[in-house]
Amino acid sequence: ATPTALMVGTGRGAKMGILIKNGEVLETVNDVKTVVFDKTGTITVGKPVVTDVRGEQDQVLQVAAALEENSEHPLAEAILDAAKEKQTAYPAATDFQAISGQGVAAKFNGQDAFVGNTKLRHDYQMDEDLQKEMETLQDQAKTVVLVGLNQQVIGLIAIQDTPKETSAAAISALKARGLKTVMLTGDNQRVAQAIAKEVGIDQVIAEVLPADKAEQIKQLQGSGKVAFVGDGINDAPALSTADVGIAMGSGTDIAIDAGGIVLVKNDLRAVDQALELSQKTFNRIK
Ligand code: ADP
Ligand code: MG
Repeated sequence: ATPTALMVGTGRGAKMGILIKNGEVLETVNDVKTVVFDKTGTITVGKPVVTDVRGEQDQVLQVAAALEENSEHPLAEAILDAAKEKQTAYPAATDFQAISGQGVAAKFNGQDAFVGNTKLRHDYQMDEDLQKEMETLQDQAKTVVLVGLNQQVIGLIAIQDTPKETSAAAISALKARGLKTVMLTGDNQRVAQAIAKEVGIDQVIAEVLPADKAEQIKQLQGSGKVAFVGDGINDAPALSTADVGIAMGSGTDIAIDAGGIVLVKNDLRAVDQALELSQKTFNRIK
């Protein structure tokens, strides 16, 4: 395309809230075969809310809140809000440790404790009933964190983050173009499947540690150019590994820096609009 056509294209994008870093990015968009989405804050609203607590509610919330005080994860915020609402009082945890993609561990009243997924369970005992309840909640598209104290899983907290209203329409538009859609997430397989089904995503890659997300993108690049859409600090390596990195405008500065395209309105329908724009820009001047 001529420099003028590129200027017109990127200018049009800007008016629609699609900031394109350079003409090369706009051209690559045309060749994308697979669009990969982060889940939290990208497909979903990114404001998780506690919906269910299993086990002895006060104790479960006390331990969970004490540990999550030290975490900056969106799930931690949801748990702290729930504890606040119930006016739960708890002592400060000590020896805090954040474990990426798994949860947090610390001491509560001098005893070992954790809040997180099953990867953090290790040798903590867990009743079969609780295991079943966990799976039921996960099938309802709820992220479930286990709360462990003194080698026993004492309860569960289910946390829901609903899809954005526009996510399903955005994904169906991409599929109508013949593109493959994939969700890449650190969350549990059942939860990811349930959300994917709600919005029509073709393929789910779940339980991926933050450090392994870029590697998953490389594998998908085996079947053509890949766009990755994400918003978090964790997403920066995937955003820069993908052929086109698309960052949410609401995302962290690190994600925005790593993206070749920034979606100001955080609306996933803009991914399809960017494809349209690329097609128009590069066909007009042939
Ligand atoms: P995502 O792909 O949604 O960004 P993360 O890699 O941040 O997910 O986290 C993956 C999983 O690790 C979460 O679904 C949760 O089970 C667990 N986890 C991470 N941080 C925490 C935390 N602070 N408290 C509880 N669980 C956590
Ligand atoms: Mg995210």
